[in-house]
Amino acid sequence: MKQAYRRASCRLCEQKDLHLVVAMPSTPIGGDFVSEDKLEEEQELYPLDLHQCADCGHVQLLDVVDPKVLFSHYTYFSGSTGLINHFAEYADNVIKNNNLSTGSFIVDIGSNDGAFLQFFKQKGMKVLGIDPAENVAQFANDSGIKTVPAMFEFNLSQKIKEDYGPADVITANNVFAHTDDMIGMAKSVKNLLAENGVFSFEVSYLLDVVDKMLLGTIFHEHLCYHTVKPLASFLQRQGMELIDVKRVPIQGGSLICTAQLAGGKRKKSSSVDELIKLEEEKGVYQIKYLEEFSQKLSSAKTKVNNLISDFKKQGKTIAAFGAARGGTLLTYYFGLGKYLDYIVDDDPRKQTTYSPGYHIPVVPTSALYERSPDYVFILAWVHSKSIIKNNRGYLEHGGKFITFFPEVKIIGHINKEIST
Ligand SMILES: [Zn+2]
Repeated sequence: MKQAYRRASCRLCEQKDLHLVVAMPSTPIGGDFVSEDKLEEEQELYPLDLHQCADCGHVQLLDVVDPKVLFSHYTYFSGSTGLINHFAEYADNVIKNNNLSTGSFIVDIGSNDGAFLQFFKQKGMKVLGIDPAENVAQFANDSGIKTVPAMFEFNLSQKIKEDYGPADVITANNVFAHTDDMIGMAKSVKNLLAENGVFSFEVSYLLDVVDKMLLGTIFHEHLCYHTVKPLASFLQRQGMELIDVKRVPIQGGSLICTAQLAGGKRKKSSSVDELIKLEEEKGVYQIKYLEEFSQKLSSAKTKVNNLISDFKKQGKTIAAFGAARGGTLLTYYFGLGKYLDYIVDDDPRKQTTYSPGYHIPVVPTSALYERSPDYVFILAWVHSKSIIKNNRGYLEHGGKFITFFPEVKIIGHINKEIST
């Protein structure tokens, strides 16, 4: 069976006038860190190019890796990534805005380890998770969050409705950007939703990806780079209505979107039209917007390449910080693979593994002090501030961090920023 295919139509509007807007290098699956016994196996590279639909303006990957390859050994546990406070606040808002109470039925699609549903369960609500990664679903079941280990499809939505009744709230965090079959997903959500129910989902926001150059948010699971206008029209075609959008800082910049069935009783907030207006002003639906992003990225790449060749001439040692899926494209885009001696990471589960493709060893953070690399590229871009703060000792001993975004910057002792 083929492990990837190239779709020929827009995921939201099914039109076929699609333009390549940002060419990216092909990379292995971002989170596919390998153990020592797999070092001899070459990892497959898959395209990561961004395309834009000329009809609705939606930006998307057209190359789709088989979800079985993507999700079978998924190692991303939301409960362990510092998202807990965000989930608590998000769950609180969903409960308040929708007057949920004991006995309300909440379904979370792509529920991961159940960290989000936990907040509803604590309040006596009925919860059900759905997640295709078997090991993750098992973990959730073991910790008391009932989770179906499957893809969310129409037949499953029907079965859940028959077994439990319609859902008062359906949530999907990032899943609505991670599925190839957006139309099928929307139809299944609509089928399971109670008449007065709401569908609440979080997706990363293209405006933030572009304006803050969030290269680390581009990986194979992340198929859709949403903007409000194409999304609102899409939901409308599927018999739903986008009634609220809220920008949140999670993952560098995301949207929490709320939708109801068409003709539902909730009033549409002004936020939807406000963001559409902002998108129009910025020219987001024009190809030029993404072409400028592409040019900014390539000038950052030239800077990084010049830095590396200088370091190499000087015989410096170079490491990286953060063994996460978001770092894989950074490693490939900036051509860091063959120059990095090792990657440090705080997570013991990552240590003793090797990076996707280049097979750079991942070692404990203590290597910053024991091996004192001259320079450390921060691949875990979301956590740059806390990484620098927590490792002041490394800087005090003469080490230097390099960040890519929003611009390429070298950071030395006492926040002395050596601009390039
Ligand atoms: Zn389209």
